[in-house]
Amino acid sequence: MVRIGRIRVMELLEPDFFGSTLNHNIVVVERGPLGGLMMIDTGLPGSLDKIEAFLNAWGYKLEDISDIVVTHWHHDHAGNASEIKRLSGAKIYAHREEIPSLINPPNYEISFSEAKEELKVSGKEFKETIERINGLKYQPVIVDVPLNGGETLSGFKVIHVPGHTKGHIALFDGNYLVTGDAVRGVNGSLTPPLRFFSWNYESAIASFHSLVSLPFSFLIPYHGEVVNKW
Ligand SMILES: [Zn+2]
Ligand SMILES: [Zn+2]
Repeated sequence: MVRIGRIRVMELLEPDFFGSTLNHNIVVVERGPLGGLMMIDTGLPGSLDKIEAFLNAWGYKLEDISDIVVTHWHHDHAGNASEIKRLSGAKIYAHREEIPSLINPPNYEISFSEAKEELKVSGKEFKETIERINGLKYQPVIVDVPLNGGETLSGFKVIHVPGHTKGHIALFDGNYLVTGDAVRGVNGSLTPPLRFFSWNYESAIASFHSLVSLPFSFLIPYHGEVVNKW
């Protein structure tokens, strides 16, 4: 739980992600487009109590969220969007290319050999992770404000960065760059999304390079460590 200037980051943990623990960085910005908190991504289904605890510690409650930005349809990002919307009346923003998957999330189809090449995962860890993530369910996410890229939300420009998924977005206000899964910060370096977990890896690489070359002060990947350039 950290505050960096105008943003706050709450960190949730996902154990047993292909043999290791993955962190999730949910960004919260004060004064969203509708006046309350703007939340960027929402954690795995079932983590609403943890999110609420972070907000309470900061003097807020779930009902204070007025805007929810979902970078892409994956369960660790969209998992609580509908539930929060139901509680707070928040509006949900996502790229229009993500809309079908947000309404009806497909299964993750991942090859063991590709995962093993990239993560050194064992057969048992792979099988358990695939079963777990394909068992995740969230309430269909109805997007209130479909995005194309180029819009501005509370001073953050929406950037369409396809590759990890077709309609993945990042947000940049000239200082803070919130990348979702388009940049990973796991193990101390900035890397593109996992190849085996990407819709189109070539696009993912191009999007990664376009993001890391931006003049940010802080880069906040959804998975990994926040990077301070200076
Ligand atoms: Zn993802
Ligand atoms: Zn993710």
